Amino acid sequence: MITALEVYRSLPRYVAARAIGPRLPGLLAGPLAPLRLVHRDGPRHPGDGWVRVRPRLSGICGSDLATLSGHTSLYFTPLVSMPFVPGHEVVGETLDEAPGIPAGSRVVIDPVLGCDARGLDRCAACEAGQRNRCDRITVGHLSPGLQTGYCADTGGGWSGQLVAHQSQLHVVPEELPDERAVLVEPLACAIHIARRAGLTDGGSALVVGAGAVGLLTALALRELTPAGHVTVVAKYGKQAELARRFGASDVVSPSDVAKAVRRSTRALRLEPERGQAYLLGGVDVAIDAVGSRASIDTALRTAKAGGRVVLAGVPGDGVDMTPAWFRELDVTGAYASAGDAFDVAIKLAAEAPLDDLLGVAYPLDRWREALDHAHDGGRLGTLKVAFDLRRAS
Ligand SMILES: [Zn+2]
Repeated sequence: MITALEVYRSLPRYVAARAIGPRLPGLLAGPLAPLRLVHRDGPRHPGDGWVRVRPRLSGICGSDLATLSGHTSLYFTPLVSMPFVPGHEVVGETLDEAPGIPAGSRVVIDPVLGCDARGLDRCAACEAGQRNRCDRITVGHLSPGLQTGYCADTGGGWSGQLVAHQSQLHVVPEELPDERAVLVEPLACAIHIARRAGLTDGGSALVVGAGAVGLLTALALRELTPAGHVTVVAKYGKQAELARRFGASDVVSPSDVAKAVRRSTRALRLEPERGQAYLLGGVDVAIDAVGSRASIDTALRTAKAGGRVVLAGVPGDGVDMTPAWFRELDVTGAYASAGDAFDVAIKLAAEAPLDDLLGVAYPLDRWREALDHAHDGGRLGTLKVAFDLRRAS
């Protein structure tokens, strides 16, 4: 038997949460949350090439919070299977042997459940090393589920045990502590975002949002791309401090973005009759690292004509796409990671100044507190909250 946090299908509750979510503090952890703590058997072993993994630390991601509060698009409903155990930012220990990975190894997990994990011949995307673009995430010998942490069969990081396919495993070097290793998955995503930004020499970038995704993206832009001026939009003091430490040239508050980008790019700033100011001129690449209507709006309105907007947060509803048309923007998605992003992330996790990023780790039975803390993390100066499974059974 293992202890696990489980999301169970409950559409009426889901819809209720979606309707009242924005107005109710503490909703995530309240009686409407579609989450419960259960004691159950560990996940069934799906077959050859799979190993059991005991999570050690498992992060809480913005996408988890959006899912639990009903703020993700209904688009996702056929891409998950119920009930599932959330948690896709995992450092754990293998309980079975895989080729080249003895039992008892410390690993991080690439959560995407592509063709290899599903026992299928590879689709074109998987064959090209772009598993995040896999077309077969709902078929094969596993239930639907775009990732570990959204699939009924694999279990997830918010539990005492999950199963992972050998193709998902990356061994963690001994000298990389759990507290940094748990950041490898979000860091791999940030590396992917930075690559999708496609900046050329000295190109300017705006990162809207300074949660874990935004901050790690700023770091990846600075460390791995030829980005020039990088502006980060941060709401809170601790976020601003970390953005600077990770290499931001400029940190601005949400209300000052248009002004700051106008200045740094010598753009013209216009005020429409309603809504946010926008620029004629602007940054080469604007990256939305939040996914709210306002943050996407900011990104669209501050990218230069012919520039690029990268959507890196789970997008909210009701975005005004006028600038994408009028300014001929390239709108680029960045989902999960691809290629060698995990290997690069493991290296970067060892070297980068990440010590303050993981703020606190809770045992599973304090999940209500953990989710509330993660939800208020920006304001409280906690950039990443995790579950600590090291003492759990
Ligand atoms: Zn595939």
